[in-house]
Amino acid sequence: MRIVLFGPPGAGKGTQAAKLVEEYGLAHVSTGVMIRDAIKDESPLGLEAQGYVTKGELVPGRLIRRMVEDVIQQADFDGYILDGYPRTIEQAEWLTEYLESSDAALDAVISVKVDPETIVERLSRRRVNSETGENYHLDFNPPPPDVDPSLIIQRRDDQPESIRKRIDVYHAETFPVEEFYRKLGVLVEVDGDGAIDDVFDRIRSVVDQIEA
Ligand code: AMP
Repeated sequence: MRIVLFGPPGAGKGTQAAKLVEEYGLAHVSTGVMIRDAIKDESPLGLEAQGYVTKGELVPGRLIRRMVEDVIQQADFDGYILDGYPRTIEQAEWLTEYLESSDAALDAVISVKVDPETIVERLSRRRVNSETGENYHLDFNPPPPDVDPSLIIQRRDDQPESIRKRIDVYHAETFPVEEFYRKLGVLVEVDGDGAIDDVFDRIRSVVDQIEA
């Protein structure tokens, strides 16, 4: 199964991807996580990407393409969820060609729809486990009491200024990708408002139809 989870920042892509991994044993390919790991490791890619991420801007595509190519190859072109990629028409065009040349086109692009107010609220209340990368929401999915509180951090790009920038970037550069996939006939829209498990049920019914 080859799936893209698509949507604005704060749509819950990371949270839902983690649940899909658990339920279907798929590989989670999150460019955001890979970039944050590279920043933590201070690798050449991380050092170059850091400024863009902190400001809420997109990292130049040339830096990420190789990384995506590698993980898809490692997954043998099957059994993965892409989260946070593609984020521009250029990335979508490249990915489509890359997958088609290996006869492994996407099964579905699941677009998680949330209203704009929800996005800001979710991002500003989001916290992350700095060791595991697990996402929390201070009100709806708080960090469990057995997790060391010093590990629970707020992402630097979840500060108000970066949030605003990321939403602007989403509208200008990422949103058109939805239409790109609609034209290809693989787009499925899912309501992303409501409780985590309710959204997951909606996504699961899409995935089960692909499997059937
Ligand atoms: P995310 O964890 O998906 O919200 O991504 C965090 C940040 O990583 C984004 O705001 C970008 O700076 C960068 N990033 C992640 N995926 C991409 C991508 N496909 N293209 C460019 N930048 C990306």
